[in-house]
Amino acid sequence: MKTAIIGGGPAGMMAAIAASEKSQVTLYEKNDILGKKLLITGKGRCNLTNAGTEDEIIEAFGKNGRFLFSALNSFSNKDLMNFFEKRGLPLKVERGKRVFPESDKSLDVIRVLEKELNEKNIKILKNTSVKKINVLENNGFEIVTEKGNETYDALVITTGGKSYPKTGSTGDGYIFARSLGHSVSSLSPYLIPLETNQEDIKELMGLSLKNVLLKAFVNGKKKGEEFGEMIFTHFGISGPVVLTLSKIAVDALKKEKNKVVYYIDFKPALSFDELDKRIIRDFEKYNNKQFKNALDDLLPRKMIPVVLNRSGIDEEKKVNQISKEERKIIIDLLKDFPVEISGTRPLSEAIVTSGGISLKEINPKTMESKLYPGLFFAGEILDLDGVTGGYNLQEAFSTGFLAGSSV
Ligand SMILES: Cc1cc2nc3c(=O)[nH]c(=O)nc-3n(C[C@H](O)[C@H](O)[C@H](O)COP(=O)(O)OP(=O)(O)OC[C@H]3O[C@@H](n4cnc5c(N)ncnc54)[C@H](O)[C@@H]3O)c2cc1C
Repeated sequence: MKTAIIGGGPAGMMAAIAASEKSQVTLYEKNDILGKKLLITGKGRCNLTNAGTEDEIIEAFGKNGRFLFSALNSFSNKDLMNFFEKRGLPLKVERGKRVFPESDKSLDVIRVLEKELNEKNIKILKNTSVKKINVLENNGFEIVTEKGNETYDALVITTGGKSYPKTGSTGDGYIFARSLGHSVSSLSPYLIPLETNQEDIKELMGLSLKNVLLKAFVNGKKKGEEFGEMIFTHFGISGPVVLTLSKIAVDALKKEKNKVVYYIDFKPALSFDELDKRIIRDFEKYNNKQFKNALDDLLPRKMIPVVLNRSGIDEEKKVNQISKEERKIIIDLLKDFPVEISGTRPLSEAIVTSGGISLKEINPKTMESKLYPGLFFAGEILDLDGVTGGYNLQEAFSTGFLAGSSV
């Protein structure tokens, strides 16, 4: 029994390890290293899973999450954590049940996987890009590369999504799948930074904020909110809360006439009245100062000119002359600072690709194609996309394990 795995990311490496129990396995990877995308996950720290419950993991994938029941049963987050800890990689759980290697090094995750691949005698063909897949008459597949052709009894496609193409994830698998008769739902960015045309937002470039509440509105209706960190960039806004809420903008902006505005609450811990009291206190402290010099305790320096400008209040005005109405303008800006969203960054910059191989055509108990016996899919290539928090890597490892052990 011979099995080919196309793609040496987390899904492909785990599929190869699982398949090696019953089969002679060859792993094709177009890069000169395995796990090039894995290396940059979690800012190089690799948030490899989430320590939450099975229900929480399923929920992280929205309406398609139920597809993952069997995969998570066959290889859960606990199994994943045991897998690494048993092989000498201690892990730690951080805020939001995010799991990282204690060393904070994604390379250590790759090292464990690569060592296991070697111990299982898996043939690893690096620098080998698969160009085409031919289906053989009496079952089985022919893999075509520039280095020659080879036939296999079973095939697992784990080529990932279509974002960060420099990591090797260029969407080849979607082409292979289509050529084999599979349908691929439309691809779009899932976790993606957002753009604005508002020039003053660009002045805030580099400013990162903790403990803000971001609220996503479409045509005046609130569609979601998230508490946490964000950052201003040269094109607009990014960071964890922005990425988490980005799908709302992606979907809404498909219709040109939709108006998408994200509001930032810079002081979510304070109610309107509490913030008013706080401002009155600051203004008493800076009694004789001009408005422009009285906001230092309240806001990061970079924000002050932008807030002054948007408030329309004369910045030379003495604070003791600021009226209650003017204070209301300031508070409204601090609690509901609008960022008009004009677009999203391109798919190539997304953390995860939304869409992929139609789940209707895959058996969730085995990850096998319903169209071809012996053909399996796993990882981001599937029509599954999870929020941030380690869920996407768990999905890649779980579906990879299930596909490999079903071979
Ligand atoms: C910046 C960034 C940070 C992220 N951080 C996290 C995080 O902390 N936690 C988390 O859960 N998720 C994170 N993700 C998402 C996560 O990295 C992906 O969901 C995951 O890597 C998908 O695994 P995969 O094995 O399906 O595909 P990939 O990791 O994309 O691997 C696919 C592999 O297939 C190879 N390949 C493609 N085509 C061919 C071909 N024709 N021939 C041979 N080889 C081929 C590619 O070179 C690649 O190595 C992050 C993503 C990005 C971009």
